[in-house]
Amino acid sequence: MPSSSNKPPYPAGIETLLTHAGRVPSDQAGFVNTPVYRGSTVVFETLDALEDNSIRYRYGRQGTPLTTGLEDIVSQLEGAEGTVLAPSGVAAISTALLSCLSAGDEVLITDSVYQPTRDLADTVLKRLGVSARFFDPRMGAGIAEIVSDTTRAVFLESPGSLTFEIQDIPAITGALRGMDITTLVDNSWATPLFYRPLALGADIVIHSGTKMFVGHSDVMLGTVSANARALPNLKKTHRSLGITASPDDTYLTTRGMRTLAVRMAEHRDRALELARWLEAQEGVSAVLHPALSSHPDHALFARDFSGSGSLFSFVLPPAPRAAIAAFVDELSLFGMGYSWGGFESLILPSRPANIRTAVPWTETGNLFRVHVGFEDMEGLEADLAGGISRYFKAAGM
Ligand SMILES: *Cc1c(COP(=O)(O)O)cnc(C)c1O
Repeated sequence: MPSSSNKPPYPAGIETLLTHAGRVPSDQAGFVNTPVYRGSTVVFETLDALEDNSIRYRYGRQGTPLTTGLEDIVSQLEGAEGTVLAPSGVAAISTALLSCLSAGDEVLITDSVYQPTRDLADTVLKRLGVSARFFDPRMGAGIAEIVSDTTRAVFLESPGSLTFEIQDIPAITGALRGMDITTLVDNSWATPLFYRPLALGADIVIHSGTKMFVGHSDVMLGTVSANARALPNLKKTHRSLGITASPDDTYLTTRGMRTLAVRMAEHRDRALELARWLEAQEGVSAVLHPALSSHPDHALFARDFSGSGSLFSFVLPPAPRAAIAAFVDELSLFGMGYSWGGFESLILPSRPANIRTAVPWTETGNLFRVHVGFEDMEGLEADLAGGISRYFKAAGM
């Protein structure tokens, strides 16, 4: 059952939940896993059955027993009233925002948000008459001073998945209490194993299941979980937009959930070890990892999270593009790519200064985001050490 606790090590029984929730072998001829149901049409034996809206499976778009199983696992992990599935994390974000915004409304969004979320607000939402304002991710209770009469939603991503600012969810939701504002949190980084936004006061939690839930870089999927207040509109919007996740992707994501706890523990330890190693390397200007005591939001992290994710960033001193290329083009283990969450390590050079609009990004060096996978630690360190030395050489430093 969901636990109301947000604190370490895990909510009670979470490993058992991941192992046993969302499947009923006796309904599947004894097979451990619920198989892939491929189906659009469901046939009804009688007119009574056809007209009985309480029958769960009425048409393929509304899901199969596998859908129910995965929704159930995520709801229990997040302590949510209910969950819906989407074909990607971005589809989950757009469905969630459309469930609580109408023409004339305003949404406040953390300036550290994942860039496609920003693009959605600046394009589609704007065209539909919803305005967006971006705010300082470290704002906390001060958010009450910037809400307007039309603010209906606040979108958080904690930590920001590129620059790793933590948002103070209890302070923000506390300051907004009593106002008709829905708080949404993208929780892809920590997963519900390490951070439980609903217990901290949020209304809706979103995951790019593509990342840690799936865990193997081979599936796109998103989830949206809501409390009792936000769930009815979420379900209606999800249904009317025709959002549905494919049976195969739902199966593979469910399979990923079975090993989420062991994978997250391993990712957490490895990422932290590599972050500490980077912090000790000469020439590294900053390591942006909330579990490090050097991180500006470390106290908030220690208060609200019970563990950290696979992903963090580090910064090297300013140098031309050729130095970045010298670093990344010759790496042997780290792949270069936009996603993360798989078994394999990834790196992504990025320029946050070009993205921010509310608070300028003042770090002048080049930022590299890494996802730490399951290769040998010595090999990963050697790969980065080689990259750093090529970087400085190419920069003439
Ligand atoms: C990748 C990502 C998304 C989008 O997920 P997709 O499944 O790629 O659409 C959303 N939020 C964060 C933080 C992500 O890293």
